[in-house]
This record gives sequence, structure tokens and C-alpha cells, in this order.
Amino acid sequence: MVESVLSADSALMNTYARIPIHFQKGKGSFLWDVEGNRYLDFTSGIATCNLGHVPKKVKEAVASQLEELWHCSNLFLIKQQEALASKLTEVSCMDQAFFCNSGAEANEAAIKLARKYAQKLNQNGNPIIVTFTNSFHGRTLATLSATGQEKIQTGFAPLMPGFQYLPYNDLASLKKLETIKPCAVMLELIQGEGGVLPADQDWIDALTAVCAQNNILIIVDEVQTGIGRTGTLFAYEQYGFEPDIMTLAKGLGSGFPIGAMLAKKEAAAAFQPGSHGSTFGGNPLASSAGLATLNEITGQNILENVKSMGKYLWEQLEKLQSNSPNMKQVHGKGLIVGIDVEGEAGVITREALKEHLLILTAGPSVVRILPPLTVDKTEIDLFIQKLKNTFKTLTEQTK
Ligand SMILES: *Cc1c(COP(=O)(O)O)cnc(C)c1O
Repeated sequence: MVESVLSADSALMNTYARIPIHFQKGKGSFLWDVEGNRYLDFTSGIATCNLGHVPKKVKEAVASQLEELWHCSNLFLIKQQEALASKLTEVSCMDQAFFCNSGAEANEAAIKLARKYAQKLNQNGNPIIVTFTNSFHGRTLATLSATGQEKIQTGFAPLMPGFQYLPYNDLASLKKLETIKPCAVMLELIQGEGGVLPADQDWIDALTAVCAQNNILIIVDEVQTGIGRTGTLFAYEQYGFEPDIMTLAKGLGSGFPIGAMLAKKEAAAAFQPGSHGSTFGGNPLASSAGLATLNEITGQNILENVKSMGKYLWEQLEKLQSNSPNMKQVHGKGLIVGIDVEGEAGVITREALKEHLLILTAGPSVVRILPPLTVDKTEIDLFIQKLKNTFKTLTEQTK
């Protein structure tokens, strides 16, 4: 079993059970460790390196920006940030963008905007935000309070007040929104950390109807599902509605830290100078990474690749499933895929390391697969071979 390599006297805080592999180089779907071993990376740094490792166009954009200007603060105009905001609002239903540095911060900004909107513009004025069981919205105090999972919250009381939780994908409980009358609901359209669980279309239809009737804002957390992961640029496009607020991070900068909170103009109008800010948010370097990433993803048949390779991956997984007793069910969308497994998912991801394959868990019994959106058939075939070997070894061990 692979345990954390950090010794008790490590200078790093013990916040991750780190796998003892030290990567030195990445290219496309592959990573190389310091000993020269090549690994197939079907995690994309947790849905972040959506164009594969060290994508050429993003590297060139950041390198050229590195020569010019790194940072000047948001007290001045930042052309690159405005270009990124224009692009994001052009390709989504949103009107304005705020930039920050991570997913949690993007959700913090969304929570603040919803509360400000409730106080200033929405006649109901209720600051409550409804989120859903099994969700994941981040690790800051407000976002862990918004997260509907006890394990994320344990030890950090008192939690931030102002959140109420309803069961995900549960039609009957949506009626409660009429009595709670929150200013907003916040949800993932596929719960990523919570098990790669897609929202049901009929539940979304009912949720959006209740929200429209009761003047409730809809915040979609697309930190994991956004930037092409599901086969459309944003997951909401596949559900036939327009959210009021959307948060992005992970895939937005190809690994350069950047987050964004986007909103339609009615909600965005609640923010005025002084309402919110971030020193680093959308600085010239980060914005150049975001803009180059978005230009690549919208301009290079990447979304077509996600659809066709997602379909191919799905077919291959179903074939593998027919003779793998360890695999119970496959679910997800495009290139975010969860496999319900027999036994502990963590045992499978650790065993896969011996095959030089990187995959993730999403909860105790789900293996999560997040290949780069540029993945090809050969790499999917290689992945299936490695996963097959992993399952074979595990089955033999239990015999
Ligand atoms: C990862 C994630 C976050 C948190 O993002 P950070 O950049 O780690 O703060 C929030 N929401 C969802 C859906 C995520 O997957």
C-alpha cells in the first residue's frame, strides 16, 4: 500500500496523502518521473490540464507575456483580462466576469454576489443559499459550509451560516424551495468529487421552474465540468437552461492558477467598486493563459474530440465491464467518467500505479477518469489495457 511519503518532520503540512512519485516532465497525455518512467495520465491534474500537459499555444502565450508584464494590480486596465472576459461572455450566456485564482474563490465570489443581490435588488432579501447533499464547492470556510459533505466540514465549526441543504436529484424536496425562499441555489451539474453523478434532466427542469417562479438565482459550479470536459464548453448547455451565475477554475488556465465568476447583468449589477476584489485575480500572466486555453478549446475541434473519444472510451469500458466483476456501472458525460467498483476505489488507483496509469477516486467506491480533452484512440486503448491488467492482478490477489 502506498502511504504518504512525508515524514513527521517534513516542512510541508500534512494535508495530502501524497503518492511517492516525483514527476519531472509532461507532454500531452503523459508524465515522466525523475527516474524516466512514463505514466499515462488520465487525471489531467484533476480536470485542469484539459489540453494535455504543456500545450504549445498556451506555453507560447504565457512565455510572450512573461517577457512583457507579469502584474500591475486591478487598479489599472488589464487588456488581457478584458479580452478573456469578452471571450468568456461571447461563448456563454453570461454578461460579465470577475477573476480570481481558484475554484473556492470563484464560489466565494458567487456567494457574495448572491447575498449582495438579495440585499440590494431582490425583493425577498433572504441571504440563504440552498446547496445539495454530496456536493463539493471548495475548502475555504464559506465554500466548505456550502459543501454538502460532513467529512469536509468536520473539525472546522462554527460553519458559516446561511446555507441549507437539499438532497441532489430529488424531485419531491424541490417544493421546500418555496418555503425556504433562498436568494440562490448553487449546484454542480455533475457532482465531481461526490462520485461523478450527473443531474437528472427532469430534476433540472423542475428546479429551474421553481427558481424562475420564486425569483431564486441559479449558480452553477462548473469548476470541474466547465472548459469542454463534458463535450460542450459548459455542462449547462446540455440541460437546456441558462444559469444566472457560473463559476470556473480548474481547466481555465491549463494549469496556470486562475478562477472566474461569471454572471448575467441583472445579478452582476449588485457589485459596485469596493464590493469585491483580488490582488492577483486576472493579472496579465493568468489572463494570457486563460485566453490561449479558451481559444484552443473553442477553435481546434477539441469539443468534437471530447464527444467522439468520450463515446469510444465509454464503448471500451462497457466491453471491459462484461468480463470484469470489479466494475459495476459506468456514468458521467464526455470525458468525465465514473466507474462504480466492487471494493475500495483507492486500492484500484494504487494498483494502477504499478501499470504506470494515473486515475482518481471520487468517494470510496468510484474510480474517476479525467483524460485530457486531446486524448486519442491509441491512448484510450492503452488505458483500457492497463486498467484490464490492474483488475486482473486484483482479482488474482483475492483468489
Ligand atoms: C475543485 C473544485 C472546487 C474547488 O476548486 P479549488 O481550485 O481547489 O479551490 C470547487 N468546486 C468544484 C465542483 C470542484 O471540482
